[in-house]
Amino acid sequence: MQRPYNFSAGPATMPAEVLAQAAAEMLDWPDANGRGTGMGVMEMSHRGKAFISIYERAESDLRELLAVPPDFKILFMQGGGLAENAIVPMNLSALAGNADEPGRADFVITGGWSEKSFKEAGKYCQTRVAASGASSDFTDIPTPANWQLDGDASYVHLCTNETIHGVEFQTLPDLRALGSRAALVIDFSSQVASRPVDWSRVGLAFAGAQKNLGPAGLTVVVVRQDLLGRALKVCPSAFNYKTVADNDSMYNTPPTYAIYMAGLVFQWIKRQGGVAEMERRSIDRASMLYGAIDQSRLYENRVDLGCRSRMNVPFFLRDESRNEAFLAGAQTRGLLQLKGHKSVGGMRASLYNAMPMAGVETLVTYMREFEQNRA
Ligand SMILES: *Cc1c(COP(=O)(O)O)cnc(C)c1O
Repeated sequence: MQRPYNFSAGPATMPAEVLAQAAAEMLDWPDANGRGTGMGVMEMSHRGKAFISIYERAESDLRELLAVPPDFKILFMQGGGLAENAIVPMNLSALAGNADEPGRADFVITGGWSEKSFKEAGKYCQTRVAASGASSDFTDIPTPANWQLDGDASYVHLCTNETIHGVEFQTLPDLRALGSRAALVIDFSSQVASRPVDWSRVGLAFAGAQKNLGPAGLTVVVVRQDLLGRALKVCPSAFNYKTVADNDSMYNTPPTYAIYMAGLVFQWIKRQGGVAEMERRSIDRASMLYGAIDQSRLYENRVDLGCRSRMNVPFFLRDESRNEAFLAGAQTRGLLQLKGHKSVGGMRASLYNAMPMAGVETLVTYMREFEQNRA
């Protein structure tokens, strides 16, 4: 069966192989020796031998794929990226000050997601905008050398890839070199596992799984251990990183089925050649689509060349009256979910790890034909 190409920004397309394996194992999950357990994964106790083996493999595969150093913990949590916007300040804002007093945090605003993080964190700590791309309508990223960093901030938050505005950091800032002692917190929800991470520059990274890793319901947090144990008293125990870390993500019931699915995705990435191969493919996909947009007289992408996202490509039809026809024609070709986010309009093609090159080729062919009025 030829599946359509799904360009959704999230929840997003999954590797077909992974879905097929999950379907085959739905009623009876086989252990490492191929022996049936008589249970599907969502029916298992999270403390039983079978699920623990699924959990441990997922953790070690992700650690290997992202080259996470030993002094970082990987946590499998719930609540998504938006919950992390509150959980991070409750856990980290007091780092530089008193444990019981909300501290200070700096935000680099590069689009809708970092803006949301900034607003939410303001309920839990003192927030400041260190830099903002708002004046360019979020079509570029302010140069780190010009950021106004607060010397007393516990952490600096940024979003490595703005899923809605389509701007992506190509390298992480070195806060030490900028004269800051704060921990760098990155929301890498829509970038994770598409390129390597320079962990020497990062204190904490979080990602909702539903973009590049698996189904919704799982949030991956990677945190340097020395940042644990300074949570505010009001922080819920289930969201206290130290409690979660001390209990290997089993303080409360973790999202077991989502962990299993993400684990299958990690195995799939390893079979493809790991994150280096994911990055190579994502460069190919993005350059083909941006190339087609830039060569055309109908389509346009307004993001600065130096920070165009490889994962989410927003684009506009210069003749907006053709938007509906474009989407309807795409649908009949099996090109799904291309409508742009409501706050930006136009179109958006999300090119996550599971999107095959053939999907981009089919999209680009359709775009050319549509422009020439032949579609
Ligand atoms: C999707 C997304 C989120 C939101 O995650 P939820 O799971 O809906 O809370 C946060 N940050 C970024 C960058 C995203 O792309």
